[in-house]
Amino acid sequence: MAPVDRIFLVDNLKCCAKCQTAKPKSDFYPRSKPRQHHLRAWCKDCENNRSSKYLESLRENNPAKVAKYRRNYYVRNKNKVAATNRRYNRENPEKVKAQWGAYYRANKEKYKNRARLRQLKIRQIAIEDFDREEIYVRDGGKCHICRRPVPQDYWHLDHLVPLSRGGEHSKKNVAVAHSQCNLVRYNTGPAQLRIWGDV
Ligand SMILES: [Zn+2]
Ligand SMILES: [Zn+2]
Repeated sequence: MAPVDRIFLVDNLKCCAKCQTAKPKSDFYPRSKPRQHHLRAWCKDCENNRSSKYLESLRENNPAKVAKYRRNYYVRNKNKVAATNRRYNRENPEKVKAQWGAYYRANKEKYKNRARLRQLKIRQIAIEDFDREEIYVRDGGKCHICRRPVPQDYWHLDHLVPLSRGGEHSKKNVAVAHSQCNLVRYNTGPAQLRIWGDV
């Protein structure tokens, strides 16, 4: 009698070489070209199992390779990926909301900055590329209006010449300020001095 993995049973059954189970032929993937009319030796379950195990080990040992693979897949299947994402978003609104919320909380500052820069670009204001932190360090963490220290996790990037009056978003035209001081200056306008003074 032939070894069990060689037996092709009638009624469209085929024996998987891995799990040794007779399964309908629809439970097997086709081989790759040019032998696409033949079925693979392992059943779909066994193949999928092997792929996911491989992927799991790859994720652990070579995340760069996984990232590159994902990137390539995305480039080749942009429309498909977009459609899948759209469907996922539609079917899981609560999950998506929670994910965005978590992302936003984790990247609050970055996110806000990006939104601000986008606004400036829309208004066609000249933008110099710099980090807020850079300005905080340069100004010694002190408010340019009252000269007192400003907490590093809550400070205002003040435009000396306001953007609304044609000021640019550049290192030269920004300074650290208390949001309160900035508000007062904005309302009463006494602190334009630094623009003409010791910049
Ligand atoms: Zn199998
Ligand atoms: Zn101040």
